[in-house]
Amino acid sequence: MVQIHIGPIRAQKGGELPLHFKENWSDIKRDGQHLGFVGLVEFSGKIGWTGESFLLRGRAEAEIEVECARCLKPNTIKIQSDILEEFLQTEHEVEHELLSEELEDADEWADEDVQWFSGSTIDLGEVVLENLLLAVPIKPLCSQDCPGLCPKCGHDLQQGDCGCEIEDINPGMEILRTLLDSD
Ligand SMILES: [Zn+2]
Ligand SMILES: [Zn+2]
Repeated sequence: MVQIHIGPIRAQKGGELPLHFKENWSDIKRDGQHLGFVGLVEFSGKIGWTGESFLLRGRAEAEIEVECARCLKPNTIKIQSDILEEFLQTEHEVEHELLSEELEDADEWADEDVQWFSGSTIDLGEVVLENLLLAVPIKPLCSQDCPGLCPKCGHDLQQGDCGCEIEDINPGMEILRTLLDSD
């Protein structure tokens, strides 16, 4: 992951340091599953010290392999995310845990858009990853007009007509597919 030393940033109170990195996350897994990053993940932005917290701003871009929601073929799409994250330092890990316990509503705590860190480095990798994963479409398509698979025989309709009686052009089917796609 991407570790940033906070010393040089803090030395520039109110100032900002430009930040660029490229990471190879093609092997990265979550819950035992590959996330499908293709090529390099690129981040471009800056990090600044406000006097109280560290602010990360920038844009992350990546290519990711996903399955088309209609024809199930793998295809590579480009995703990007504008990132704005605030990091607050705790002196010790323990202190952070105590702070959390003091808050009655744990959900409220989780909603707060602040990243806590301890020690002299901030790991930017995790927040960049989280932001990028939010940018992955829930129903990715290989193309906007992908005809999908024949509902009868499973034939890939992009390869041509399979001859089944259910016609793709049938307006009834079109409505049905829209309904299926929008669930
Ligand atoms: Zn498709
Ligand atoms: Zn068919």
